[in-house]
Amino acid sequence: MTDPGDYGLDNLPFGIFSDAGSGRKRAGVAFGDGVIDLDRLVGAGFLDAESLRGATTLNDFFGAGLATWRAVRARVRSMLASDAPAEERAVVTTATLPRDAVTMHLPIAVGDYVDFYSSLEHATNVGRILRPNSAPLQPNYRHIPIGYHGRSGTVVVSGTPIRRPHGQRKAPDADAPTFGPSVMLDVELELGWIAGAGSNHGEPIGADAVREHVFGYVLLDDWSARDIQAWEYQPLGPFLSKSFATSISPWVVSLDALEPFRVAEPARDPEPLPYLRAREPWSYDIELEMLLQTPRMRERALAPISLSRTNFRGMYWTVAQQLAHVTSNGARLRPGDLFGTGTVSGAEQGTQGSLLELTWRGANPIALPDGETRGFLEDGDTVIMRGRAIRGAARVGLGEVVGTIAP
Ligand code: MN
Repeated sequence: MTDPGDYGLDNLPFGIFSDAGSGRKRAGVAFGDGVIDLDRLVGAGFLDAESLRGATTLNDFFGAGLATWRAVRARVRSMLASDAPAEERAVVTTATLPRDAVTMHLPIAVGDYVDFYSSLEHATNVGRILRPNSAPLQPNYRHIPIGYHGRSGTVVVSGTPIRRPHGQRKAPDADAPTFGPSVMLDVELELGWIAGAGSNHGEPIGADAVREHVFGYVLLDDWSARDIQAWEYQPLGPFLSKSFATSISPWVVSLDALEPFRVAEPARDPEPLPYLRAREPWSYDIELEMLLQTPRMRERALAPISLSRTNFRGMYWTVAQQLAHVTSNGARLRPGDLFGTGTVSGAEQGTQGSLLELTWRGANPIALPDGETRGFLEDGDTVIMRGRAIRGAARVGLGEVVGTIAP
């Protein structure tokens, strides 16, 4: 259970929920332990936001643009304020459900899904592991934000079970590939950003237009079958090793909520090309943690153990550069498009965002309570990813994204 302190007045993230009574999907804002039913506020005439009326996804709201997002968030915030008129506070109270009593759904109908590769440390580690006899970083890495187009239809909300994928893989010393369940099932700890206002086909978006075209962030787990990936990824990149499932957290945290945590970008050499330069810095100081609980730990009521702690601030390529790059050829952006940032890894042991790196492809298995070990995930394992930004008294949580492996 997420600490309710993650969803204070400075956060007010948006999501899609349903309650057991009506089962009807609608838009909500998380506040403390509750969910504020925005459809109800709109219906009662207390919130002027047609894009949220009867909405079962947030796509129209995200497409409505920055002025609408700010107006809705400011209105909800003012209704929650201690000096709000009694009538407004009463309406908000009536429209609030306990968060642990609702079911969360995908916040968006996912349009296009792209996953970047923006941590230099992650790219370096993966290069060392998969191509031990050549330079770990490809020569293009410091010039171009690398990514691949993923599969939007298999993006799922946190809590959805993840079925172990079957696929084709070939051991390095084997003569021929075989087909069967992945034996190197892994995770990737990432953030995802969701497109706000769209763009016209043929018209690139500049690196300074982030606030208009990006609504906000979720946590993202890019499930990865490393044995399938190692055999298929050359020459065109990941394919079926990634497309079986991608999990996201249900609450979308706005850029405005994350504004106090925007920090200077890491040093880059060489200087990126002009279209990849933004006037403002777009790194974020967001703490991330990844935890694991095995079936045996669950049976014995042992708490999940921490596998990794890292920070988002060191990512080599920012949201501004990803946005500019992905539209630089005139490709269209649509509200509800989803972009993974790439696995967030640091340089030190215990700061990497994948088991591939943490166990060095299974060579150094992780020791668990009760004498178990893990190189990669086994059936029944649950992975939990959490994100939180803290600066002084300011605190904004991204909540968590959870998935359990089904056979
Ligand atoms: Mn990834």
